[in-house]
Amino acid sequence: MTAPTVVRDLVVAHTRALKLPGVARTFEGLARQARDSHWPHEDYLHEVLSAEQASRHESVIRQRLREARFPEVKTLDTFDFAAADGVNATQLHTLARGEWVTAPENLILAGPIGTGKTHLAIALGVEATKQKRRVLFTRAADLVRQLLEARDTRELTRLQQRLLRVEVLIVDEPGFVPFDRVGGELLFNLLTDRYERRATVVTTNLAFAEWVTVFAGDEKLTTALLDRLAHHATVLTTKGKSYRMRRRRTREEPS
Ligand code: ADP
Ligand code: MG
Repeated sequence: MTAPTVVRDLVVAHTRALKLPGVARTFEGLARQARDSHWPHEDYLHEVLSAEQASRHESVIRQRLREARFPEVKTLDTFDFAAADGVNATQLHTLARGEWVTAPENLILAGPIGTGKTHLAIALGVEATKQKRRVLFTRAADLVRQLLEARDTRELTRLQQRLLRVEVLIVDEPGFVPFDRVGGELLFNLLTDRYERRATVVTTNLAFAEWVTVFAGDEKLTTALLDRLAHHATVLTTKGKSYRMRRRRTREEPS
């Protein structure tokens, strides 16, 4: 016996009005199961509500993943630890638990080009979205350009507030493009605002001694910035040759 169509349609209408997509998707299937297995009414209600809760949980995570604007999704599963020097799976899986986000602490991924820094930064970002954290991936040059534009259009405060709501800010490769003084200062202010309040991830192929070149030779600003960044920070150093180059070489080598 199925519920009369009228009742079914009314339930569907209620799920729309009350925004209960999980209930809408599951109530009929679960009702069949409940009838077949003679569940008490309370059990049926419980199952339907659990489905709604699971559906909301997943939709928040999907939303967080969208908002994070990862250039592409990379995961720890697809990272080949055997081919990576300097980082190990245990350490990364510990970081994946996200205690550093709660603390909050920073993460610095340093190493040569192509050694998986961005991959790992994204992978840890993805893990954070699974814990419903607000994550944002930005290339350093884009971030500074956005800050400069916001400053010119008097929207800097709004942008700063928005960025401060981000729980894990990934700043990819400051150093590819040097910043002028104002750009450097804006980035400095951003990191100062986040200091001990929000977690920040920075990837870099520069040694700390080279950072001053990124900030228009401003030693004082560079030292202060690195100081804040590195104070509560885990530093992961990736080593060796570019992963892609190495793969290419392995494939080309006669066996
Ligand atoms: P980096 O940011 O250090 O310059 P990327 O993280 O961008 O390097 O890595 C370059 C490419 O190689 C990416 O496609 C990345 O997914 C891949 N890659 C690098 N290291 C590994 C690894 N150990 N396992 C799997 N893929 C890797
Ligand atoms: Mg990179």
